[in-house]
Amino acid sequence: MKAFLYESQNARVKFGVGFLKEVGNELKELGGKRALVIATPEQRELANEVATLLGDLCAGIYTEAIQHVPRESIGQSMHVVQELQIDSFVPVGGGSSIGLAKALALETSFPILAIPTTYAGSEMTPVWGITENGQKKTGKNMIVKPKTVIYDPNLTVTLPPSLTVTSGMNAIAHCAEGLYAENANPVISIMAEEGIRAVSSCLPRILENPEDMDARSEALYGTWMGGTVLGSVGMALHHKLCHVLGGNYKLQHSETHTVILPYAIWYNSTYAPEAMARIARAIGSEVDDVAGAIFDLSKSLGVAVSLKEIGMKKEDLDEAAVIATRNPYYNPRPIDGSAIRSLLEYAFIGERPV
Ligand code: NAD
Repeated sequence: MKAFLYESQNARVKFGVGFLKEVGNELKELGGKRALVIATPEQRELANEVATLLGDLCAGIYTEAIQHVPRESIGQSMHVVQELQIDSFVPVGGGSSIGLAKALALETSFPILAIPTTYAGSEMTPVWGITENGQKKTGKNMIVKPKTVIYDPNLTVTLPPSLTVTSGMNAIAHCAEGLYAENANPVISIMAEEGIRAVSSCLPRILENPEDMDARSEALYGTWMGGTVLGSVGMALHHKLCHVLGGNYKLQHSETHTVILPYAIWYNSTYAPEAMARIARAIGSEVDDVAGAIFDLSKSLGVAVSLKEIGMKKEDLDEAAVIATRNPYYNPRPIDGSAIRSLLEYAFIGERPV
């Protein structure tokens, strides 16, 4: 066995249908007395529900969270934090709500109790991201890692089918890249394989019946695995490409992950045989057709499988390839500019990788 370093990261996870009602008790456990509930404008109603459950422990609600955390949004919300003498954050929603809470925790060191409602996995990571002058900067700091996470599958029933699938593919992407990370370790790899199995097997069941609580629970369980993998080991080509495409060309986060994943896997397939064997086992595919099988999974679930469909312009592909290869992350297969350019071409068209 290869030598490795494993560092565990503390997290208190409450997982179960209806566990949203535990939010007050959990905040007390954290010592929070004046929480700010954070959400996106679309989830204002849910934010109000959380505030009601918190009662006197809620000092305010802020529902202006925006994807990729623009720097200006931190300034506005910090004003609220100071005015209301906040001592803790309760983001409810996807990576955008949790992302704003993390940016505020970076400024204040106040604890976060996160209530995720998508499968992006940010709640399990110490990674923050802030966008300034069109560039997204990210960093790692344990201060921003939520101290407590409540996973309540009830809250995911309202996720539209397309976001259910693309967000689930986002969780699978964290797991897949964790399997061939430079600092991969056997414990995190177990979680990665299990996360891929859980999410890929439940997505078709959710599409058939969005209120299937077993399937919704399985998806959140896989999300927890994916987030833990993302927060524990390094990501590679896939995440780099998504970062560039999302940050520079404003493509939607989970849709971008869904389109790129089969091509990133294809690029790495012969350079990461153990990872491919584990992904194949998790999704039940042939080991030499993992990339194609992931492509088929997305396509069969009715979401976009090409960059063209999600708003990328063909004339931007050259520039995207250059930016993506400028400061490459570690990747099992060396990064080659012309190979990345042709990967983007295939992803643009949405041709099944073989
Ligand atoms: P999101 O938080 O932007 O949510 C997308 C949309 O779905 C929003 O309009 C939101 O209101 C809505 N929504 C969320 N949950 C819903 C539900 N249950 N029902 C109905 N609508 C719902 O999307 P996301 O994919 O969760 O997060 C993307 C952001 O998170 C990006 O900025 C990304 O960079 C970041 N992210 C960060 C990390 C990290 O570790 N720091 C990890 C993953 C993602």
